[in-house]
Amino acid sequence: MTTAGPKTGRESAFFREQLALIPERYSPRAHLAATVGIGLVAIAVGALAIDAFRWIFVPVAAAFLVFANFVEWAAHRWILHRRRRFLEPLYDQHVPRHHRFYIDGDMAVGSRREWRFVLMPARGVLAIAVLAIPLALLVGALCGADCGWVALMTVGSYASLYELMHLAYHLPDDHPVRRVRTTRRVIRWLSRHHAHHHDPRLMQDWNFNVTVPLWDFLLGTNRWGRKAQEP
Ligand SMILES: [Zn+2]
Ligand SMILES: [Zn+2]
Repeated sequence: MTTAGPKTGRESAFFREQLALIPERYSPRAHLAATVGIGLVAIAVGALAIDAFRWIFVPVAAAFLVFANFVEWAAHRWILHRRRRFLEPLYDQHVPRHHRFYIDGDMAVGSRREWRFVLMPARGVLAIAVLAIPLALLVGALCGADCGWVALMTVGSYASLYELMHLAYHLPDDHPVRRVRTTRRVIRWLSRHHAHHHDPRLMQDWNFNVTVPLWDFLLGTNRWGRKAQEP
Protein backbone atom coordinates (compact mmCIF):
# COMPACT_ATOMS: atom_id res chain seq x y z
CA MET A 1 0.00 0.00 0.00
CA THR A 2 1.52 3.34 -0.99
CA THR A 3 1.12 6.55 0.96
CA ALA A 4 -1.48 9.03 -0.15
CA GLY A 5 0.79 12.06 -0.06
CA PRO A 6 -0.64 15.37 1.03
CA LYS A 7 -4.01 14.83 -0.65
CA THR A 8 -6.80 12.78 0.88
CA GLY A 9 -9.93 11.00 -0.31
CA ARG A 10 -10.45 10.64 -4.02
CA GLU A 11 -7.71 13.17 -4.69
CA SER A 12 -5.07 10.84 -3.32
CA ALA A 13 -2.58 8.85 -5.34
CA PHE A 14 -3.74 5.76 -3.45
CA PHE A 15 -7.28 6.22 -4.79
CA ARG A 16 -6.04 6.53 -8.38
CA GLU A 17 -3.88 3.48 -7.86
CA GLN A 18 -6.80 1.42 -6.50
CA LEU A 19 -9.10 2.60 -9.29
CA ALA A 20 -6.53 1.53 -11.85
CA LEU A 21 -6.36 -1.91 -10.24
CA ILE A 22 -10.05 -2.61 -10.92
CA PRO A 23 -10.07 -5.21 -13.70
CA GLU A 24 -11.06 -4.02 -17.16
CA ARG A 25 -13.86 -6.62 -17.24
CA TYR A 26 -15.49 -5.22 -14.06
CA SER A 27 -19.11 -4.31 -14.72
CA PRO A 28 -20.73 -2.07 -12.07
CA ARG A 29 -24.22 -2.93 -13.35
CA ALA A 30 -23.51 -6.68 -13.18
CA HIS A 31 -22.14 -6.19 -9.66
CA LEU A 32 -25.33 -4.40 -8.60
CA ALA A 33 -27.55 -6.93 -10.40
CA ALA A 34 -25.84 -9.85 -8.63
CA THR A 35 -26.12 -8.09 -5.27
CA VAL A 36 -29.82 -7.34 -5.69
CA GLY A 37 -30.48 -10.65 -7.47
CA ILE A 38 -29.50 -12.68 -4.40
CA GLY A 39 -32.21 -10.93 -2.35
CA LEU A 40 -34.78 -11.39 -5.12
CA VAL A 41 -33.92 -15.09 -5.40
CA ALA A 42 -34.34 -15.48 -1.61
CA ILE A 43 -37.80 -13.86 -1.86
CA ALA A 44 -38.81 -15.90 -4.93
CA VAL A 45 -37.69 -19.25 -3.49
CA GLY A 46 -39.52 -18.55 -0.23
CA ALA A 47 -42.67 -17.42 -2.03
CA LEU A 48 -42.70 -20.64 -4.07
CA ALA A 49 -42.14 -22.81 -1.01
CA ILE A 50 -44.84 -21.21 1.14
CA ASP A 51 -48.36 -22.56 0.57
CA ALA A 52 -50.45 -19.64 1.81
CA PHE A 53 -50.11 -16.40 3.74
CA ARG A 54 -50.55 -16.58 7.51
CA TRP A 55 -50.60 -13.63 9.92
CA ILE A 56 -47.78 -15.12 11.98
CA PHE A 57 -45.46 -14.27 9.08
CA VAL A 58 -45.77 -10.56 9.96
CA PRO A 59 -44.22 -10.74 13.47
CA VAL A 60 -41.63 -13.27 12.24
CA ALA A 61 -40.55 -10.94 9.43
CA ALA A 62 -40.57 -7.92 11.81
CA ALA A 63 -38.45 -9.78 14.37
CA PHE A 64 -35.91 -10.75 11.71
CA LEU A 65 -35.77 -7.21 10.35
CA VAL A 66 -34.88 -5.97 13.85
CA PHE A 67 -32.39 -8.83 14.25
CA ALA A 68 -30.77 -8.13 10.85
CA ASN A 69 -30.54 -4.45 11.79
CA PHE A 70 -28.65 -5.43 14.95
CA VAL A 71 -26.28 -7.70 13.00
CA GLU A 72 -25.63 -4.79 10.63
CA TRP A 73 -24.77 -2.55 13.61
CA ALA A 74 -22.61 -5.17 15.35
CA ALA A 75 -20.73 -6.39 12.25
CA HIS A 76 -20.02 -2.81 11.19
CA ARG A 77 -18.75 -1.87 14.64
CA TRP A 78 -16.79 -4.98 15.55
CA ILE A 79 -15.72 -6.54 12.24
CA LEU A 80 -15.48 -3.75 9.65
CA HIS A 81 -13.78 -1.29 12.03
CA ARG A 82 -11.54 -3.73 13.93
CA ARG A 83 -9.00 -5.87 12.09
CA ARG A 84 -9.90 -9.44 13.14
CA ARG A 85 -7.95 -12.57 12.39
CA PHE A 86 -9.31 -14.40 9.30
CA LEU A 87 -11.60 -11.45 8.57
CA GLU A 88 -8.87 -8.99 7.53
CA PRO A 89 -10.19 -8.52 3.93
CA LEU A 90 -13.43 -7.09 5.34
CA TYR A 91 -11.56 -4.46 7.37
CA ASP A 92 -9.12 -3.75 4.52
CA GLN A 93 -11.95 -3.04 2.10
CA HIS A 94 -13.80 -0.87 4.58
CA VAL A 95 -11.50 1.43 6.55
CA PRO A 96 -8.37 1.88 4.40
CA ARG A 97 -10.42 2.11 1.18
CA HIS A 98 -14.12 2.94 1.57
CA HIS A 99 -13.63 5.32 4.49
CA ARG A 100 -10.47 6.85 3.10
CA PHE A 101 -12.00 7.55 -0.32
CA TYR A 102 -15.35 8.93 0.85
CA ILE A 103 -15.29 11.52 3.60
CA ASP A 104 -18.13 13.56 5.10
CA GLY A 105 -18.56 16.47 2.70
CA ASP A 106 -17.30 14.48 -0.30
CA MET A 107 -19.39 11.30 -0.24
CA ALA A 108 -20.38 10.82 -3.88
CA VAL A 109 -18.74 8.41 -6.27
CA GLY A 110 -17.22 10.04 -9.34
CA SER A 111 -17.98 7.18 -11.72
CA ARG A 112 -19.82 3.86 -11.80
CA ARG A 113 -16.52 1.98 -11.57
CA GLU A 114 -16.25 3.32 -8.02
CA TRP A 115 -19.24 1.17 -7.07
CA ARG A 116 -16.53 -1.42 -6.52
CA PHE A 117 -15.47 0.61 -3.45
CA VAL A 118 -19.05 0.89 -2.13
CA LEU A 119 -20.78 -2.43 -2.80
CA MET A 120 -19.54 -5.53 -1.04
CA PRO A 121 -18.65 -8.44 -3.31
CA ALA A 122 -21.74 -10.42 -4.34
CA ARG A 123 -20.28 -13.48 -2.61
CA GLY A 124 -20.47 -11.50 0.65
CA VAL A 125 -24.20 -10.98 0.18
CA LEU A 126 -24.55 -14.66 -0.71
CA ALA A 127 -22.59 -15.62 2.43
CA ILE A 128 -25.05 -13.63 4.59
CA ALA A 129 -28.00 -15.45 3.00
CA VAL A 130 -26.26 -18.83 3.47
CA LEU A 131 -25.43 -18.01 7.12
CA ALA A 132 -29.15 -17.39 7.67
CA ILE A 133 -30.02 -20.98 6.69
CA PRO A 134 -29.28 -22.60 10.10
CA LEU A 135 -31.30 -19.86 11.76
CA ALA A 136 -34.16 -20.41 9.32
CA LEU A 137 -34.04 -24.15 10.05
CA LEU A 138 -34.27 -23.43 13.77
CA VAL A 139 -37.25 -21.12 13.27
CA GLY A 140 -38.80 -23.76 11.00
CA ALA A 141 -38.42 -26.39 13.74
CA LEU A 142 -39.99 -24.06 16.32
CA CYS A 143 -42.95 -22.62 14.46
CA GLY A 144 -43.29 -24.42 11.15
CA ALA A 145 -41.34 -24.62 7.90
CA ASP A 146 -43.14 -21.63 6.39
CA CYS A 147 -41.90 -19.38 9.21
CA GLY A 148 -38.39 -20.63 8.46
CA TRP A 149 -38.82 -19.57 4.84
CA VAL A 150 -40.00 -16.13 5.99
CA ALA A 151 -36.84 -15.81 8.11
CA LEU A 152 -34.66 -16.73 5.12
CA MET A 153 -36.53 -14.35 2.81
CA THR A 154 -36.18 -11.51 5.32
CA VAL A 155 -32.46 -11.88 6.01
CA GLY A 156 -31.57 -12.66 2.36
CA SER A 157 -33.39 -9.60 1.04
CA TYR A 158 -32.17 -7.38 3.91
CA ALA A 159 -28.57 -7.84 2.75
CA SER A 160 -29.56 -6.62 -0.73
CA LEU A 161 -31.48 -3.70 0.79
CA TYR A 162 -28.38 -2.73 2.79
CA GLU A 163 -26.34 -2.60 -0.41
CA LEU A 164 -28.94 -0.58 -2.29
CA MET A 165 -29.30 1.96 0.52
CA HIS A 166 -25.55 2.32 0.98
CA LEU A 167 -25.04 2.88 -2.73
CA ALA A 168 -27.82 5.51 -2.74
CA TYR A 169 -25.94 7.47 -0.02
CA HIS A 170 -22.83 7.52 -2.19
CA LEU A 171 -24.51 8.64 -5.42
CA PRO A 172 -24.25 12.27 -6.56
CA ASP A 173 -27.10 14.53 -5.40
CA ASP A 174 -28.41 14.96 -8.95
CA HIS A 175 -28.66 11.20 -9.56
CA PRO A 176 -32.26 10.14 -10.43
CA VAL A 177 -32.36 7.71 -7.47
CA ARG A 178 -31.85 10.63 -5.06
CA ARG A 179 -34.46 12.80 -6.78
CA VAL A 180 -37.52 10.51 -6.53
CA ARG A 181 -40.13 12.80 -4.99
CA THR A 182 -41.56 10.29 -2.52
CA THR A 183 -38.25 9.06 -1.12
CA ARG A 184 -35.74 11.89 -1.57
CA ARG A 185 -36.26 13.39 1.90
CA VAL A 186 -35.73 10.10 3.69
CA ILE A 187 -32.73 9.22 1.48
CA ARG A 188 -31.22 12.63 2.24
CA TRP A 189 -31.84 12.19 5.99
CA LEU A 190 -30.27 8.74 6.03
CA SER A 191 -27.41 9.99 3.84
CA ARG A 192 -26.60 12.63 6.45
CA HIS A 193 -26.61 9.97 9.15
CA HIS A 194 -24.17 7.85 7.13
CA ALA A 195 -22.04 10.87 6.16
CA HIS A 196 -21.41 11.54 9.88
CA HIS A 197 -20.02 8.02 10.08
CA HIS A 198 -17.65 8.98 7.25
CA ASP A 199 -16.12 11.75 9.38
CA PRO A 200 -12.72 10.20 10.28
CA ARG A 201 -13.08 11.58 13.85
CA LEU A 202 -16.44 9.83 14.34
CA MET A 203 -16.21 6.61 12.35
CA GLN A 204 -14.88 4.37 15.13
CA ASP A 205 -17.66 5.22 17.60
CA TRP A 206 -20.77 6.55 15.88
CA ASN A 207 -23.53 5.74 13.37
CA PHE A 208 -22.89 2.08 12.59
CA ASN A 209 -26.34 1.40 11.16
CA VAL A 210 -26.60 1.96 7.42
CA THR A 211 -30.20 1.13 6.50
CA VAL A 212 -32.25 2.43 9.44
CA PRO A 213 -30.46 3.72 12.59
CA LEU A 214 -32.59 1.69 15.02
CA TRP A 215 -29.75 0.11 17.04
CA ASP A 216 -27.72 3.31 16.93
CA PHE A 217 -30.64 4.91 18.79
CA LEU A 218 -31.13 1.96 21.15
CA LEU A 219 -27.42 1.53 22.02
CA GLY A 220 -26.44 5.18 22.21
CA THR A 221 -24.20 5.37 19.15
CA ASN A 222 -26.41 7.72 17.18
CA ARG A 223 -24.73 11.00 16.36
CA TRP A 224 -27.05 13.48 14.79
CA GLY A 225 -26.33 17.13 14.17
CA ARG A 226 -23.71 17.39 16.90
CA LYS A 227 -20.39 19.02 16.19
CA ALA A 228 -17.57 16.64 15.38
CA GLN A 229 -14.78 18.33 17.28
CA GLU A 230 -15.64 17.20 20.82
CA PRO A 231 -14.25 13.74 21.76
ZN1 LIG B 1 -20.28 4.47 3.13
ZN1 LIG C 1 -17.66 2.19 8.59
